[in-house]
Amino acid sequence: VTEATRVALSRADAHSAHNYDPLPVVLESAHGVWARGIDGVDYLDLLAGYSALNFGHAHPGLVAVATDQLARLSLTSRAFQHSLFGDFCEAVSRLCGKDAVLPMNTGAEAVETALKLARRWGYEVKGVPADRAEIITFAGNFHGRTIAIVGFSTDPDAHDGFGPYPPGFRTVAYGDIGALSDAITENTVAVLVEPIQGEAGVLVPPDGYLGAVRRLCDDTGVLMLADEIQSGLGRTGETFACDHEGVVPDVYILGKALGGGLVPVSAVVANWAVMGVIGPGQHGSTFGGNPLACAVATEVVRMLETGEYQQRSRELGAYLHELLGQLPRDGVAQVRGRGLWAGVELASGQPPARTICERLLARRVLAKDAHEGTIRLAPPLVVERHELTWAVEQLADSLVDS
Ligand code: PLP
Repeated sequence: VTEATRVALSRADAHSAHNYDPLPVVLESAHGVWARGIDGVDYLDLLAGYSALNFGHAHPGLVAVATDQLARLSLTSRAFQHSLFGDFCEAVSRLCGKDAVLPMNTGAEAVETALKLARRWGYEVKGVPADRAEIITFAGNFHGRTIAIVGFSTDPDAHDGFGPYPPGFRTVAYGDIGALSDAITENTVAVLVEPIQGEAGVLVPPDGYLGAVRRLCDDTGVLMLADEIQSGLGRTGETFACDHEGVVPDVYILGKALGGGLVPVSAVVANWAVMGVIGPGQHGSTFGGNPLACAVATEVVRMLETGEYQQRSRELGAYLHELLGQLPRDGVAQVRGRGLWAGVELASGQPPARTICERLLARRVLAKDAHEGTIRLAPPLVVERHELTWAVEQLADSLVDS
């Protein structure tokens, strides 16, 4: 760690809330998959802003669109319509094969929005008695940091000490269709599911599970809400992780990469049968659907509609998983994931994942532990094959460093 890095880290430590424990690197610029630190070192970014940077840092097309829009019109609020709003909503709806979009900014806000939408739908359409709606969530979930959301988190760090929490949520085991079926009652309005649990360590549910959730929701008149904030928009080799099982949820929840890594953009996307229950004054956001966000997100949709990024993720993801599969068994117990997304679970006897991430940093690779024993890899989808080869070599060496 250079003196400049040490000073920058200690200044941040002195004046920012300690709600993160970042690796000791201070970045100042980045292009594509490479980020430069104030130490002058170039690092290969294998985290990609928790998948917000699917198109890489400073994607030229996205930067051009954003720069142009920034000088033209950045904010109107939803009190007035702006010239890009209709195109944005049409584009995101089209990508999802749905009727309508409700735009927000962060992932957690979009999840909250979907929960409100589901409750309102439950009362107005399903006929659930007032204030009795139930929503089912899964053990190991991660949907953000608001009070309602951490209320149904099963991670003690996220959950404990922030109550009391809103009622109306039940949590069942992930991947167990019987447990879900048992939890559904006549007051259940929705199931909130991550098609792959990212923060839990890139947990892929058993084959056929998402399809079974879909059928169960259909049979019981319950909405399927898919949180594709981290799994969606090309990350797994398809536009949505649900696509791998041919499953179409009632509601898509999008965020992260929708803003191209440039601006926070999130969205809830559904057909009118659901979206129609929200009227003027019942939900909103000052920045939601702002012109800058719409310009960038509309371009993101155009890029995804070429299929190029999904294909890269499929092909390079297969290569990444092949390389990871060759790591020695005394270093790695299991590799999970789809496309350019992997959870590398360390073998017992290995140091904590955080230590391996520190060793990777010393070898110019940025990666983040997902849980004590798992390293999450999610490079930008613009990564090249030789960069993956090099990165996995660094990982292999980090497993035997001391
Ligand atoms: N949902 C999922 C699946 C996520 O992975 C995340 C963030 O990691 C969120 C929601 C929350 O998004 P945000 O941090 O933008 O609120």
